[in-house]
Amino acid sequence: MNNFTFYSPTEFVFGKETDNNVGSLCRRYGAKRVLVVYGGQSAKKSGLLDRVFASLKAEGLDYVELGGIQPNPTDGKVYEGIELVRKENADFVLAVGGGSVIDTAKAICAGVPYDGDFWDFFICKATIQAALPVAVVLTIPAAGSEGSGNAVITREATLQKLGIKAKMLLRPKFAVMNPELTFTLPAWQTASGIADMMAHILERYLSNNADIFIGERLCEGTLLAIMDAAPRVMANPCDYGARANIMWSGMVAHNDTCSCGMDEDWSCHAIEHELSALYNVTHGAGLAVMFPAFLTYMAKHHPAKVRQLAVRVFGVSPEGKTDEQIALEGVARMKAFFKDVLQLPVTLGELGIENPDIATLVCKLHENKGNPFGFYYSLTPEITEEIYRLAM
Ligand code: NAP
Ligand code: FE
Repeated sequence: MNNFTFYSPTEFVFGKETDNNVGSLCRRYGAKRVLVVYGGQSAKKSGLLDRVFASLKAEGLDYVELGGIQPNPTDGKVYEGIELVRKENADFVLAVGGGSVIDTAKAICAGVPYDGDFWDFFICKATIQAALPVAVVLTIPAAGSEGSGNAVITREATLQKLGIKAKMLLRPKFAVMNPELTFTLPAWQTASGIADMMAHILERYLSNNADIFIGERLCEGTLLAIMDAAPRVMANPCDYGARANIMWSGMVAHNDTCSCGMDEDWSCHAIEHELSALYNVTHGAGLAVMFPAFLTYMAKHHPAKVRQLAVRVFGVSPEGKTDEQIALEGVARMKAFFKDVLQLPVTLGELGIENPDIATLVCKLHENKGNPFGFYYSLTPEITEEIYRLAM
């Protein structure tokens, strides 16, 4: 087990009607003038946004708005937000939405106090030294950005989808999590969110460290809890208990609780980010396609963790089988879960990419991540090409 610092200062306010407290929470964390960031339609249509504005007004807080954040958010809205905060003298950023809205809000928070181009942080030209406070009202359990110090943004001009991590500065001050707000999610978004949180756990689970019993068991237990609740939310979108478990699992999957002392992998996220950048696919759905392909390759070349996952999480009986066979059976069960329970695509064709430009995907992937890259297994362009092909 590695040395580690675990710092997760976010106040999580969880449960029914908790969104009514957002004004007093903002005030408690020192806000005077709030930039409220939100997405396309959902928060307006559900009445959530009006309730948030009313709650801010009730506390005597001023606010300005930045709406229209799209899934797979791009740099344009970040520049717009930075300019707006500076012009309006906002001192606090409140994200009302999912990962795309939260990540845009975080990038704005990092960009405001910085003299240069905020994109410098994403291309490792500069490190974040200061940031405005950010907080969240979560409407979709998926990215886990409500508890993480990460943000992922796409540079429109170059179609680079890259992430930043600032564990100390970009963790939300508070995250309001009312599972009832997720009743309106379409099945596709619910399912993609579940695949994404499962992928966040798997990226951590794919660690080569010794003596990480607690981390491994937290990962396995959280995966099992998600797989227990998933059929219920898919069958009944208004099942409060199941929605609540999924919502909290999405946070637990990504605030580092499950991976203290472990090296994490994140190769498969990088492989998927090229798909979202080039084809604008839904991130979680892209992972439902790429994770089974990635693990199929690992079953052959480095089966240790895939085998363990197969036995402990997917209930594969190891008797009389090779490690590769056990691992492959586990991958088949995971694929069946994505396809049959979550109704997600599991091939690039099903994802709507009939003729993937694999040469470009591989080239951009290694341009962004290096050659080779990967902690669990060292990935060269030949290998990542094979992994994309395994997804066809
Ligand atoms: P999202 O992109 O924020 O939202 C997806 C869609 O769900 C939007 O069209 C949104 O519509 C809709 N939606 C949200 N809440 C809804 C509700 N309650 N009812 C109905 N529709 C609702 O989803 P996400 O999966 O959370 O975020 C994906 C992004 O996060 C990707 O860019 C991914 O790469 C990134 N990510 C970040 C991290 C991190 O740690 N920062 C980790 C993993 C992934 P409206 O626009 O109309 O609201
Ligand atoms: Fe993700």
